[in-house]
Amino acid sequence: MTDVSISRLCKTYPGQGTPASDDVSLDIADGEFLVLLGPSGCGKTTLMRMVAGLELADSGRVIVGGRDITYLPPRERNLSMVFQSYAVFPHRTVADNIAFGLRMRGVDREVVARKVAWAADLLQLGPYLQRYPAQLSGGQRQRVAVARAIVVDADLLLMDEPLSNLDALLRLSFRAELKKLVSEIGTTTLYVTHDQVEALSLGDRVAVMRDGRIIQCDQPMTVYDDPATEFVGSFLGSPPMNFLSGRVHGSNGSTQVDLGGLHLPAPSRLASYAGREVRLGVRPETIAVSREGDPGASPSTVSVFEPLGSAVLITAELAGQELKVAAPASFRASPGERLWLTLAPERMRWYDPETGSALELAP
Ligand code: ATP
Repeated sequence: MTDVSISRLCKTYPGQGTPASDDVSLDIADGEFLVLLGPSGCGKTTLMRMVAGLELADSGRVIVGGRDITYLPPRERNLSMVFQSYAVFPHRTVADNIAFGLRMRGVDREVVARKVAWAADLLQLGPYLQRYPAQLSGGQRQRVAVARAIVVDADLLLMDEPLSNLDALLRLSFRAELKKLVSEIGTTTLYVTHDQVEALSLGDRVAVMRDGRIIQCDQPMTVYDDPATEFVGSFLGSPPMNFLSGRVHGSNGSTQVDLGGLHLPAPSRLASYAGREVRLGVRPETIAVSREGDPGASPSTVSVFEPLGSAVLITAELAGQELKVAAPASFRASPGERLWLTLAPERMRWYDPETGSALELAP
């Protein structure tokens, strides 16, 4: 069992006022692929480096497979790492690069040969084993780094933005390869990225970080559909979740939210917020758009129309507030045109305007 338990990990770099890791706790199950996602500077790499032993925590604990590794030197942790820069040895062949960690561990020659062949096969590096890194493409070089990391039977695989040096197309294909590979080898994995698509695509769970803290950690589609805060809703999704300001009204058993004069039906669970300001979060692709004034639809005015290939993106004004709507690729609209928007009640999310946190609504 190589489950990971990170508890109350704190780290403030010397001379820095704010902590890079602020009381972070996180459990990773045996064989799980956990993605740390967040904007630049939020503390992802610091957390990863503390797990790797490249940075020492001020306080807190890291337990891997029941073993407290918090203050062990990196080589005693039995972890393997893949970094953004390919970090392969230029003067060694692909085969020697892959074998490196095994040889360092004094593994038997035959076993080394078998494992190198296995990893090369998994990562389609068979034809390149005798080449040097300079004779490989960026994607192939990154595959060598991954192969080197997976051959060593580590308790935990750490990957820090391993795809970010690849061009967009290569990134896409390597992402799918990596997902397949990691599920095949089943090693517990901690993966750092600031790319939300990568996080959603790869993670069994995604931990969204901000300012040295984990804001939300859950399955990808839960984090996407039910963001715990406005920050999470804005960070995930392209375009991000829309947020509109309104005030809750409740009378005669019906609950409504007033968005600058436009009254939308709101769930009765919101009644306890009557008279208070709220923020309504709604994903662009959950808004239905039409040219007809269907029952329940609200009039809006198009300000920008953007064809994106697989969909069209419409920026519209609804009761004096701007929002984005993703419509099917065949839909056409022009600036100034009136369109009718329907916001599905079950896709609406509610936030506290002061804290930005999701409102706790009674079921
Ligand atoms: P990125 O996605 O840009 O790599 P990150 O989320 O990985 O960012 P970290 O590299 O962990 O963020 O940095 C977290 C905070 O700690 C930042 O404010 C950063 O400036 C600071 N920091 C990181 N390394 C050091 C260091 N060696 N000395 C001082 N401050 C540091």
